[in-house]
Order: sequence, then structure tokens, then C-alpha cells
Amino acid sequence: MKIICIGRNYVEHALELKNEVPTEPVFFLKPDTALLPKDQSFYLPEFSKDIHHEIELVLRVCKPGKHIAVEFAERYIDQITVGIDFTARDIQQKQKEKGLPWEPAKAFDHSAPIGEMLPLSDFPDKKNIPFHLNINGKTIQSGNSSLMIHSFSEIISYVSRFITLRKGDFIYTGTPKGVGPVKPGDKLEGFLGEKMLLRVDEVMVFPISR
Ligand code: MG
Repeated sequence: MKIICIGRNYVEHALELKNEVPTEPVFFLKPDTALLPKDQSFYLPEFSKDIHHEIELVLRVCKPGKHIAVEFAERYIDQITVGIDFTARDIQQKQKEKGLPWEPAKAFDHSAPIGEMLPLSDFPDKKNIPFHLNINGKTIQSGNSSLMIHSFSEIISYVSRFITLRKGDFIYTGTPKGVGPVKPGDKLEGFLGEKMLLRVDEVMVFPISR
């Protein structure tokens, strides 16, 4: 199982981080160790002082595919939820300045909490799926698939030119504007429409063993 993540897929988010709006999807991977087990706290890693939340729509791949045409791409996904792409923004900034890979900032342990899945068939209009993130009961980030630069189908088609998709893979589809830091004690809740599908109960400080 792999986790494929799309970057810069919302115009206003690309601009808030002073990035160019891409003409082709930007993608990177997280390993399976990035998943956060259900109901487990998220520990702020010791290597960063600026961990950001990025709420995103997450798709589940339901069958293997390579070189998938855009018009058939939706056949390869069957479930949807929200997830958080936790990002060490300070590390990412350093990596970007040096032209180095993003993995230290993106692929670390437990950087990919994923919510409870719903059937994609619950959402007949794939281009109008609202979602949002609450922190401590207040809405901090909200988005809608209508604002995506590259649609689900375009993402699947593009990524499958390079990487074979397999059943059980996850695809993070990019975050809308409003990213920002999390702090110890924060409670995060991810919503798809009005349904809460993801909860990170408490952000904790990483325990340093002595
Ligand atoms: Mg992201």
C-alpha cells in the first residue's frame, strides 16, 4: 500500500505559500508508516517547530491500473474520506530552497491520518464535494472539490503514467487555502459534507527518551 499526495491543487493555497500554479499535477509519496492508527494521539515530531495541518479529500484505489485514460479513471476509485497531510513547514521550506526532496517534511511517521471511508457513489457530483477541518471546535480550513485545479480523474490518469496504482492505495488530492500550525492540546476534526469522519484527539509533544 502506498499513499500518493498531490501538491498545489488549489489556486489560493499555491499562492498562500508563494508557489506557482502548476500546469501538471505535482505529486509525492508517503510510506505506510505515515498512517496514524485510529484513536491514537498525534505527537509533534522533535525535528520541527512548525507542523502544519492540511485537510484534503482522500480517495481509495479499488483495482490495479497503469496508463489509465481520464475518461475511465473514476472506475479505479470506490471510496472517499478526508485526511490530514501533516507537513513540517520549516523543514519543507529549507528543502525547497535547496532543491532537495520533501520527504523529511512530508513522509514522517503518523503524518497521514485518514478518516473513515464512505462509498464514492454517495457523491454523484464529483466536482462539488465540500469538506472542512475544525480545530478545537472552530472551522479553520474549508474547501470544495469544485476548486481543484486537477480533477480526481486527471490526477489518477497523470499519476498512473509513472506509478502503477494498486487496490488499497490512497490518494490525497491537495489542500485548500488556510493551512497553519498545530499546537499541543489541539483537537482536530475532519468533515466530509456535514459528517465528521476523522478525529485526532490530542496533539502531543514528542516524548524524548533519556
Ligand atoms: Mg498536502
